[in-house]
Amino acid sequence: MTIEHHLHPPIAPPRRTLMGPGPSDVAASVLAALGAPTVGHLDPYFLKVMDEVQDMLRTIFHTTNELTLAVSGTGSAGMEACVVNLLEPGDKIVVCTNGVFGARMADVAGRIGAEVVQIHRPFGEVFSVEEVIDVLQKEKPKVLGIVHAETSTGAAQSLKEISEAVHEADALLLVDCVTSLGGMPVKIDEWDIDAAYSGTQKCLSCPPGLSPVTFSSRAVAAMDARKTKVSSWYLDMSMVRSYWGDSRAYHHTAPINMNFGLHQALRLVLEEGMENRYSRHYANHCALKTGLNAIGIEFAVAEDHQLPMLNAVNIPDGVDDAAIRGQLLKRFGIEIGGGLGPLKGKTWRIGLMGESSQSTHVLLFLAALEQCLLHAGYQLSPGAGVAAANDFYRTTITD
Ligand SMILES: *Cc1c(COP(=O)(O)O)cnc(C)c1O
Repeated sequence: MTIEHHLHPPIAPPRRTLMGPGPSDVAASVLAALGAPTVGHLDPYFLKVMDEVQDMLRTIFHTTNELTLAVSGTGSAGMEACVVNLLEPGDKIVVCTNGVFGARMADVAGRIGAEVVQIHRPFGEVFSVEEVIDVLQKEKPKVLGIVHAETSTGAAQSLKEISEAVHEADALLLVDCVTSLGGMPVKIDEWDIDAAYSGTQKCLSCPPGLSPVTFSSRAVAAMDARKTKVSSWYLDMSMVRSYWGDSRAYHHTAPINMNFGLHQALRLVLEEGMENRYSRHYANHCALKTGLNAIGIEFAVAEDHQLPMLNAVNIPDGVDDAAIRGQLLKRFGIEIGGGLGPLKGKTWRIGLMGESSQSTHVLLFLAALEQCLLHAGYQLSPGAGVAAANDFYRTTITD
């Protein structure tokens, strides 16, 4: 019997404006780097690219950590890499869960036989240092895991004081920086973070596929002191790091072209300058907020811990979540995110990440949203959102 083979047409994806919780828009030069000629994973040219990726990642993480590299896999692979290397079966981890990604970290740790204790805050809220001190005293964990920028809720967690408490208790601090890296300060050394992971498709604006990670010397010492092998072969840092380090021992074939793309995306971050990039993210967040407030749409997170790159807003009463998001995509090519977990149908998540954090995106989105909302019968003064955002830009951006 022969199997009928149908030749599919070549891919021709539509051009979208990506304003969801990731992926974000990708610069043309990053797409070009992804399409550069593939070389071998031990080619001297590629080894130099790896060194430069590590070097740029250290700068962007604000760290001198030797063990800093890009794990092959998306942000969740970086999460898993940190968890499986820091913990052995029976080790205790406290996970601070106030959204989907804290819960995921707890799930990963449970699967490798770690003893997992979670403390919870409702979606959209953040943890106080007192709550963390309490659980550290009670549980005496080896690791405390927490999310810096909870993409599922739009909440920003401050870390410096929590870090002091964690080290006071002789534990290691593990931080999810998937959404924060490249869009707001992630100060690994200054905040004394022991292990952190990120992703490429949020504020670094490279397609998904790699996960930058960094480990402090304290974390490396804990990994060196393990009594058991790391439960994941693929993510075992003792082997991965000899490929990225001096011995260049083959472990797995690095995704060559993904690393080319990341190299260019990191160059763009450094070319812009990190402080400039953080201020750009903040300014566009403020402009979007001004515009949305002018048409009666409120943020779902308290003012003092709103993320600049992920704007979670309450869907107005009576407005159909899926219908509006569907129209934004179909008529304007704009993708935004819906709510997750308990926030499903209640919030929209509007991403202004990396390349997508632009005044053009903010103004286009507000204009498109106004039209979709008016079409759905929601009362607003046409043009009010766009006018308010324009006013913000006119009065605060001077060049
Ligand atoms: C996106 C995200 C992840 C998971 O990353 P993937 O690339 O989807 O695997 C983890 N944590 C946070 C905070 C995220 O935003």
